[in-house]
Amino acid sequence: MPSASRLPTASRSSRRRGGDDIPLARRSISPALQQRSVWRPVLLTAGGVALTAAAVLVVFPQPLRRLMAPPPVEGLQARVSLDGRLLGHFPYSEAAADDLVSLAPGLQLHRDAARSLQRMLDAAAADGIDLRVLSAHRSVDLQKQIFFDVKSERNQTALERARVSAPPGFSEHSTGYAVDLGDGRAPSTNLAQSFERTDAFAWLQAHANRFHFTLSFPDGNRQGVAYEPWHWRFEGTAEALKTFEAAQRLAR
Ligand SMILES: [Zn+2]
Repeated sequence: MPSASRLPTASRSSRRRGGDDIPLARRSISPALQQRSVWRPVLLTAGGVALTAAAVLVVFPQPLRRLMAPPPVEGLQARVSLDGRLLGHFPYSEAAADDLVSLAPGLQLHRDAARSLQRMLDAAAADGIDLRVLSAHRSVDLQKQIFFDVKSERNQTALERARVSAPPGFSEHSTGYAVDLGDGRAPSTNLAQSFERTDAFAWLQAHANRFHFTLSFPDGNRQGVAYEPWHWRFEGTAEALKTFEAAQRLAR
């Protein structure tokens, strides 16, 4: 029995000793440590603010993308939207001159796209289809003319014009990966919606994917660009895929 009565006594004394240790420890805090404890909440707050800012950028990346978007086009009363689009079109940089090869006089394309396009033209010809390249790489300067001169000629507003043509700096053609295709047997359908009723279009729908070409602006695309059955882009390399990553998400 004495052992049983000793046990609680011992444990009580050890609790008391433990309790006494705390004020001792407090008293032993040096002035340097006390100073550090003053900075601690400040550092914690700063860290918290930085973490929150990083989290906000991950969840809402649009403001960052907006900062990184190209400057607005001169002469256009339109703002770049939060996802970088201008009147529905995504921004694209100009193909490097070294990457461009000539398809025919006045027609240049990125060498990767050109190689694949040639194979596609040959395959179409073998199937009795007269596929024609109407337009290929367009420099930003040429796009400027196409956009503003035609806009003025047709008395269109920027918004109306942008439904059918990309503003300069926002055209897939400037990447060297996009082509406008026509049917040599139905030239009246060139760059018109009626191209969708040609044999060439039917052939493209059945075979273009094999050559890594895809319709950029299908009917009812969520990008808000008018249906262009003639406009196809190359997505057969990692670089080309990356170029059109944002557009792919709104294609269908
Ligand atoms: Zn086009």
